[in-house]
Amino acid sequence: MGIVTGADYIESLRGRNLKVWFLGERIAEPVDHPVIRPSINAVARTYDLAVEHPELATAWSRISGRPVNRFLHVTESVEDVVAQNKMQRRLGQLTGTCFQRCVGMDAINSLFSVTHEIDQKHGTPYQRRFRDFLVRMQEANYVIGGAMTDPKGDRSKAPAEQSDPDMFVRIVERRPGGIVLRGAKMHQTGCLNSHWILAMPTMRMRPADRDYAVVAAIPVDDPGLTFIYGRQSCDTRALEGGEIDQGNARYSGQEAMMILDDVFVPDELVFLDGETEFAAMLVERFTAYHRRSYVCKTGLGDVIIGAAALIADYNGVAAAAHVRDKLVEMAHLNESIYGAGIASSHESHETPAGNFEPDDLLANVCKHNVTRFPYEIARLAQDLAGGLVATLPSEKDFANPETGPLLRKYLKGRDGVTAEERARVLRLIENMTLGRNAVGYLTESMHGAGSPQAQRIQIARQMKLEEKKELARALAGIPGKAGTE
Ligand SMILES: Cc1cc2nc3c(=O)[nH]c(=O)nc-3n(C[C@H](O)[C@H](O)[C@H](O)COP(=O)(O)OP(=O)(O)OC[C@H]3O[C@@H](n4cnc5c(N)ncnc54)[C@H](O)[C@@H]3O)c2cc1C
Repeated sequence: MGIVTGADYIESLRGRNLKVWFLGERIAEPVDHPVIRPSINAVARTYDLAVEHPELATAWSRISGRPVNRFLHVTESVEDVVAQNKMQRRLGQLTGTCFQRCVGMDAINSLFSVTHEIDQKHGTPYQRRFRDFLVRMQEANYVIGGAMTDPKGDRSKAPAEQSDPDMFVRIVERRPGGIVLRGAKMHQTGCLNSHWILAMPTMRMRPADRDYAVVAAIPVDDPGLTFIYGRQSCDTRALEGGEIDQGNARYSGQEAMMILDDVFVPDELVFLDGETEFAAMLVERFTAYHRRSYVCKTGLGDVIIGAAALIADYNGVAAAAHVRDKLVEMAHLNESIYGAGIASSHESHETPAGNFEPDDLLANVCKHNVTRFPYEIARLAQDLAGGLVATLPSEKDFANPETGPLLRKYLKGRDGVTAEERARVLRLIENMTLGRNAVGYLTESMHGAGSPQAQRIQIARQMKLEEKKELARALAGIPGKAGTE
């Protein structure tokens, strides 16, 4: 039987002998590392949610003929696409961080339709291979990471034009039975916490980039993979003992750089090899799913709005008009993100492969809001928190017999609220706006699934300006066709 609970999942990660580096040292067992473990707990929460609420976090799969985890499910209806967003918001609320499974979910959904269309054109066996792979993943109930972003070197140059050819993952050898991959993938969310990685191209490719147009599934414990763990602001607080100063001691996100040092991939696990014209289609389909997956941040927004309301209450200012208004503004921004994302899912259409894909324009609007609104929500949370969010003494000073009583006397808020309760909520706000989970709440919101300009390009492509000009001309009574006279 495959993995069921969060505890099963955590056990499944042990003993894989991964090559993981952090703070200049090789980590013997990531599962037991205090800085890494909270990120594993966040993924484990996705399994427990599936046990607690199967209606939300599992789905019946036509591919496997059984119920599967929703993160491994290929959408079969509009409702399936909408349900992804509902699950994502709930997991954001439960963890207050990035729970790391959306990239894989969005990768399998986009690959399902793209492999079908490549096969239609080229007679390749990619979709059959991909379905076989997916059935294995669904049965074992594994975590899949999605690896798109290459180092990219000189951003003005295409993959084949770079002075170092390894700036994008590429096929260095085609052997009977498989291919050999070399390169690196950057900012890989949850890669150590995954069982398998899907490596995909990061942008459109030209015919000269043939060796870079590759999609392949790689087991995370492949000996050719090296992981260099990304630092997060305040991460070493997890090494200090105690939990208050961590803000959210249980959960965090995870990003690492992943080096592919001549990784052999058997043919059965290759889902694109040289069909350069399909790289752009894959990136666009993936981002249609992934940019509306950022409704997960509204779950984090719910937590931070709650924290801001709590600190205002603890400080005795909950009834002040400007405080209420700031909380309303935060909720308005948060729901604006959700509104665009869930609308994109509701507007899903069927692909030629038979799965359902969200509306691309609305997905881009959702993600573009995400690049901005969490920053404003974070600003308002810091406003309501007061300066102590950045000047609060440590948990160890609370524990010290000399300073502890002074802190407990001077740091309490309104009657009935202890200094420790106040400290805990301030640390949570710090965690999400300046600390570990600001990576997930702010910077990932900015760059994950593409930096803001990437969405503006997609919005520009789809904003139907000529149609809009026609509407204006018709009502203004201007004869002829816009731009033709
Ligand atoms: C927390 C986090 C998690 C992530 N998780 C994943 C993941 O799981 N999987 C994954 O594959 N990726 C992941 N990413 C990567 C993410 O998709 C990229 O960060 C994003 O696409 C931007 O790429 P970059 O970081 O290389 O920045 P750059 O591409 O260097 O962008 C920096 C700036 O330069 C601009 N720019 C870039 N190229 C050009 C150009 N040619 N012309 C003009 N302007 C340009 C951009 O618009 C931007 O303003 C993650 C990123 C973060 C921060």
